[in-house]
Amino acid sequence: MILYDFEHERPGSLQDVAARLAELGPTAGILAGGTDLLPNMRLKIRTPATLVSLGAIAAQPPGTDTDGWLRIDALTRLSEIENSDTVRAACPMFARSAHVVGSNQIRQAGTLGGNLCQEIRCLYLNQEHDFQFVAPCYKRGGDCCYPYPKNEKDFCASVFMSDIAPALIALGSDIELVGANASRRMAVEDFYTGVGMTPTVLRADELVGAVMVPPPPPNSGWGYHKSTIRGGLEFAMVVVAARVALGEDGETCADARIVIGAVSEGPSRARGAESALVGAAPTPEAIAAAASAAVAECRFLPHHNFSVEYLKQNAEVYLRRILSEAFGRAKTGPGKGGQDQ
Ligand SMILES: Cc1cc2nc3c(=O)[nH]c(=O)nc-3n(C[C@H](O)[C@H](O)[C@H](O)COP(=O)(O)OP(=O)(O)OC[C@H]3O[C@@H](n4cnc5c(N)ncnc54)[C@H](O)[C@@H]3O)c2cc1C
Ligand code: SF4
Repeated sequence: MILYDFEHERPGSLQDVAARLAELGPTAGILAGGTDLLPNMRLKIRTPATLVSLGAIAAQPPGTDTDGWLRIDALTRLSEIENSDTVRAACPMFARSAHVVGSNQIRQAGTLGGNLCQEIRCLYLNQEHDFQFVAPCYKRGGDCCYPYPKNEKDFCASVFMSDIAPALIALGSDIELVGANASRRMAVEDFYTGVGMTPTVLRADELVGAVMVPPPPPNSGWGYHKSTIRGGLEFAMVVVAARVALGEDGETCADARIVIGAVSEGPSRARGAESALVGAAPTPEAIAAAASAAVAECRFLPHHNFSVEYLKQNAEVYLRRILSEAFGRAKTGPGKGGQDQ
């Protein structure tokens, strides 16, 4: 699998990158750490004629904005996020989610922006097309879908695997998209479309500049789990992330955000389960009911030889555990989202 010839540019600022993306149009690709893009170029899933590299731009260190939100540059390597004292103190779930991505080598090279914009995965897509397939699927610009031959045209039921996106959504984070002339900011949740063909709302002339995480509400706690067959160097079967807050009485749930990732075309919030928890005491029965409701309301696709039934059971078990941990941290933590790692 030898890479084809392509042009390579290294602009000196995010705005210059955006300007080049606007000039080059869809034939351009953004190169950050390259741990996702370059393998996909070898497999010809992506075939940009020009790579606009972020390699000449230095990432700003993690810091706090004037509004109190933690700001992480999109160019920050995952190894820096997992080891940053600033991130670990302000939002340990974010550091944890970066820590579980791939292997140490992947985290040393991979960036936050690349993780959030990584390509969807599918057993057909993640191999050399010529090896055993004759016609390209919809995602490769063709006219079929191998796992779902009865899908309507251009419907791609693939899986978005970022380990970090569910944590950021559970934390209520925002994302900044930089264009040549203007930037826009939105909730990370709204960045994802849930559509396999176009998983994010990123335009061809934009790039991700930063992620902003709000300060945790009082009496809050978090829980996060990534299920894999082995420990390191493995994409997820299921990712579950939650942040909860207790009311002034310290006994009643005042806020809950529950996210399931790596089981469908984008991360899903379980809003029904969240609403059922708010106002209730987080008893084992209420937590079990919330976990069950979350699994029932989110979309699951079979992926990488895991059945939907297995993935749902896995998600439900770990949701129960992480919700218990989150409420435990909310009760005992120092009021900043439970700083313990
Ligand atoms: C063996 C292996 C294991 C892996 N395991 C995991 C895992 O467990 N969990 C996981 O989440 N990921 C995993 N990955 C995927 C990937 O390595 C990581 O998600 C990594 O963080 C991607 O970052 P990068 O900087 O290398 O992205 P790149 O490969 O440079 O880019 C990925 C995509 O994002 C786009 N992009 C990059 N930066 C920006 C930006 N600032 N704005 C807009 N678009 C941008 C690129 O154009 C490209 O489309 C794995 C990859 C490999 C090869
Ligand atoms: S699910 Fe998507 S990526 Fe997989 S074969 Fe179908 S169209 Fe292609």
